[in-house]
Amino acid sequence: MSFDIIKGMATTLKNMGKKPTTVSFPEEERELPPRFRGRHVLHRYENGLERCVGCFLCAGACPANAIYIEAEENTEENRVSPGERYAKVFDVNLLRCIFCGYCQAACPTGAITLEHQYKLASFYPEDMVYHKEQLLEPKGQSTIGSNADWFEPAPPEAAQPVPQEGKVFDGSQASAAAVGLGNIRTEEPVLLVNEEQDEDRRDITGKRKALGRKDGQKP
Ligand code: SF4
Ligand code: SF4
Repeated sequence: MSFDIIKGMATTLKNMGKKPTTVSFPEEERELPPRFRGRHVLHRYENGLERCVGCFLCAGACPANAIYIEAEENTEENRVSPGERYAKVFDVNLLRCIFCGYCQAACPTGAITLEHQYKLASFYPEDMVYHKEQLLEPKGQSTIGSNADWFEPAPPEAAQPVPQEGKVFDGSQASAAAVGLGNIRTEEPVLLVNEEQDEDRRDITGKRKALGRKDGQKP
């Protein structure tokens, strides 16, 4: 018997008593690491509002172009998220997705996470485009998903105060209104000459200053 056969037999004997690494799926399931990235879940706040504010940051960060969003304005009659907008359509194409988690990292509101859901088979490719209705937590459920495993919670002092409807900086909500682009009317418009020209006022301001023109004087 050659030395190689003895070596091979020794390896076999050494591993014979060991527990197999395979599991009898689907009767048995392997325990997943906490940071395992499976299919996406969209989350809600405790008051039922959707966390997603339709900002498109996740879609922009996605290297596989797997996320499709259509955003819609919130109204007082139909408030879906606490922000200015919400995602009316939110699709994730799981055939394109490489489960990198960039969308989760890019999301400013913790609205999207990749969870321990990996049984993603289908007979038809179109079924692998998951829609908002499939991704969103059901009403009455409010979790932050695997964000707890990936990100330290922000300290309370990190909260940025932003203006609210009452123009009071109470810090209770955040929206694009903080930079004057929200659903709160900004202060009275500064008209340089007239309303039409005011549309280009940032550009006009520079030009007018360069020409030494005063407000009310024709450009
Ligand atoms: S996990 Fe990666 S590839 Fe998949 S949707 Fe998110 S960013 Fe795109
Ligand atoms: S999931 Fe997050 S990043 Fe994507 S659109 Fe919604 S709020 Fe923006």
